[in-house]
Amino acid sequence: MALTGLQIFKLLPNKNCKECGFATCLAFAMKIAAKAVDPVLCPYLSEDAKTTLGKSQAPPIKQIILKGKKEEFKIGGELVLFRHDKTFYNPPVLAIEIDDSLPEKDFLEKVNQINKLIYERVGETIRFNAIALNYSSNNKDNFQEKARLIESNFDLPLFLICDDKDTLDKTIKSLSIKPIIYKLTANNFEALAPIIKENNLTCTLSDDSSLEALIPLSEKAKSNGLENIILEPPQNNISELLQNQVIIRRSAIKNNFEPLGYPTITRTSNIEDNTLPESIAAIIGICKYSSVIIIKNFELFMALPLLTLRQNIYTDPQKPLQVNTGLYKIGEPDESSPLLVTTNFSLTYFTVTGEIESAGTSAHLLVTD
Ligand code: SF4
Repeated sequence: MALTGLQIFKLLPNKNCKECGFATCLAFAMKIAAKAVDPVLCPYLSEDAKTTLGKSQAPPIKQIILKGKKEEFKIGGELVLFRHDKTFYNPPVLAIEIDDSLPEKDFLEKVNQINKLIYERVGETIRFNAIALNYSSNNKDNFQEKARLIESNFDLPLFLICDDKDTLDKTIKSLSIKPIIYKLTANNFEALAPIIKENNLTCTLSDDSSLEALIPLSEKAKSNGLENIILEPPQNNISELLQNQVIIRRSAIKNNFEPLGYPTITRTSNIEDNTLPESIAAIIGICKYSSVIIIKNFELFMALPLLTLRQNIYTDPQKPLQVNTGLYKIGEPDESSPLLVTTNFSLTYFTVTGEIESAGTSAHLLVTD
């Protein structure tokens, strides 16, 4: 539970010694309340105060790390409702769903297509960051084999969409990575929770009937030792998706309501309105407030708009993307080449650079603050 500045002040030693870098304990307390400094900067904190302040500093939405073979992504850990209040920290993981029933050649083509969906934009690499393997074949061996194929050919996190206990057990044991399990529900809880706990896995927690029903399920998961959970509220249509994502975020941020203080997931194919493309659900999820978005019917045209939107929403509004100031060479300029001057705002820098390059000329580019 977040503490006010005055509550924090009462936990400080009140020596006003300035060793934390602030003139008074009260000034330091106000900065801790704003989450602008770390309480450990005060060397005189009691053990009790350290524990209490440590808990109060924890983000109201749990941060979870999704690990792949070579890369990992943080989700959750957000502190605000609106990015202009501070910033959003952990961009949603965009996953593409693949059916395990696809023939091996088509399956591998799809995995390779996802591997190649990497773009450079304003100096950053943007890409899709997970695969969700859907158990549509109803064949345990096939599911296991396809999961292993992904593990061999893909370095990022893997979701397993399967609620058959034996299939999951067999597949998890055959992998060296720790997949994320989709989905634990009230109906399969007794069967799947032990496997998830035993293997220390992250799982999604879903209830299709109502958001209220997700609350006791979340409490049950926690009391059963499942800490790394991703909530999936009912999202049968676009308005329900938006409404439930906002209620979960508000409950966690404004009321510190622990059962809903977890990252969330949207599986776009769950939206029943098939007059809307799945990309619309993904857009809503990126803006409000999904931590993971699984897209089933992915098409190439969706890639850049979704990745660009995510990048824009998750830049710090108080710190626009910038490049270092200085003199840059574009092409192979010499002493007779033009000298151009621009600002250090990334979008401007990359636009100007692109124009110079496409003009087929070499130039010096002076970037100023
Ligand atoms: Fe107060 Fe601790 Fe800062 Fe000293 S170091 S001023 S005791 S908060």
